[in-house]
Amino acid sequence: MTATPFPPELLKQAERRRTFAIISHPDAGKTTLTEKLLLFGGAIQLAGTVKARKSARHATSDWMEVEKQRGISVTSSVMQFDYMGHTINLLDTPGHEDFSEDTYRVLTAVDAAVMVIDAAKGVEAQTIKLLDVCRLRNTPIITFVNKLDREVREPFDLLQEIEEVLKIECAPVTWPVGMGKAFRGVYHLLENRILRFTPGEERKSAAEIITNLDNPQLDTLFPGEIGQVRDDVELIEGASSPFKLETFLAGQQTPVFFGSGINNFGVQEILQALLDWAPPPQPRDAGARMVAPAEPKFSGFVFKIQANMDPRHRDRIAFFRVCSGKYAPGMKTRHQRMGREFKIANALTFMANERVHMEEAYAGDIIGIHNHGQLQIGDTLTEGEALHFKGIPYFAPEMFRAARLKDPLKTKQLHKGLIELGEEGAIQVFEAIGGNMLLGAVGQLQFEVVAQRLQDEYKVDAIFETADIYTARWLTFKDEATRRKFEREQAMRLGTDVDGNPVYLATTRYNLQVTMEKWPDVGFHATREHG
Ligand code: GDP
Repeated sequence: MTATPFPPELLKQAERRRTFAIISHPDAGKTTLTEKLLLFGGAIQLAGTVKARKSARHATSDWMEVEKQRGISVTSSVMQFDYMGHTINLLDTPGHEDFSEDTYRVLTAVDAAVMVIDAAKGVEAQTIKLLDVCRLRNTPIITFVNKLDREVREPFDLLQEIEEVLKIECAPVTWPVGMGKAFRGVYHLLENRILRFTPGEERKSAAEIITNLDNPQLDTLFPGEIGQVRDDVELIEGASSPFKLETFLAGQQTPVFFGSGINNFGVQEILQALLDWAPPPQPRDAGARMVAPAEPKFSGFVFKIQANMDPRHRDRIAFFRVCSGKYAPGMKTRHQRMGREFKIANALTFMANERVHMEEAYAGDIIGIHNHGQLQIGDTLTEGEALHFKGIPYFAPEMFRAARLKDPLKTKQLHKGLIELGEEGAIQVFEAIGGNMLLGAVGQLQFEVVAQRLQDEYKVDAIFETADIYTARWLTFKDEATRRKFEREQAMRLGTDVDGNPVYLATTRYNLQVTMEKWPDVGFHATREHG
């Protein structure tokens, strides 16, 4: 074997890191699981810390709630804690589906995801969308089937649904013994032992364990349930695929755990799976080449921007995923898009509910960088080398509004505000023919946030009117002649995005379809990468 060129300290630090997000349809139990994981990890002492922000998560159209959501999510967007010799970064994703664009971007910064399924409901709409996003990068998924303390669906039925709808192979690792009032625990298929369930919110210790499924003690303890489990296990061993690390790491198979988050049951197994199976930071595609996590030089990218709470200062925090090397306070980096030096004065790290100054950070860690608009989503910082990390998507919006001013003298402020909010990722901004500003969103709530922020931060009163647009498609052209011809004939339907890229603004699904058929040499893209 050849000697590794990487500094041993960096290799060690990268290896011990796990960076992941929890994804779920609202109400499946993401907040509860997050809280229990933090309790296990010792990051918080009291249950309820995370749940306190639950009300803010359910922000509807109430301004205060929207504000709260913004503020609270700054401190809780990333939670770092140490557990059994590992450093774990848990990235929060907004609960409200109107902010799903934000979630998509967060998923580009993780190395694994935990998918929570409500066992009574099975696979839900938002789960499908989130899994699709994970698939863009073949992110390995660990599945937690939650709420077994309720009357829920048959486990085989749930697995079949996950396999069919989400197109991912299931490898059960634990299996429920009963459910609802008769929920007795889970059988660990790989370790041949039963973890006994006792209800209770605050229990932190390990569950009682009974080894061996053939143990006659089980017939006495669970006479009503154990027969079924033995039959099920026989079926599983005959019919379903055993857990295979490589298939999981390739994003093609998911290990499945059953439990009850609220009762703290099955949570420790999830943490253990993250340590044992989820990958440490991997090499990342930086355009010119792949960048390995233990390379000595620092690099990484911005995947999320969060406006700060104080509207007068208009400062922002850029969430930055370290991809290689080591961060040290005050370090000088090269801002690739702007082509100049950028000093990271004092980055923040996030622990439960406080922000703390970061002393050092390694591949896999997320640091928060204060800035006044210099950093945008997709920006790469390096220690000099010209690199550009790839893969942060923009998705074609599904809702459009045209911005109109109450006071026409404020055009300049409106323009500035919208561009800045667009760069921040709060909304997508397009310029249509004649200079009209169009806003594109994935969820209605995004418009409300933008209107409020225009008023608070830019002193602009804007009205958003319905726009006659169904969706947008980013355009690529086979050659220059095609581009010119298309621009001439389709001028009325053309626009540009915030970075000046050409887009087609379709009025209806039919309009889009017809145009695509008529122009085979033009590429119509529903996503584009940042930067
Ligand atoms: P989120 O929207 O995915 O973050 O879901 P929450 O964690 O807020 O949970 C939604 C609801 O389900 C809350 O009322 C929780 O108390 C409840 N819940 C979460 N886990 C369990 C569980 O294991 N069993 C039961 N019965 N309820 C649960």
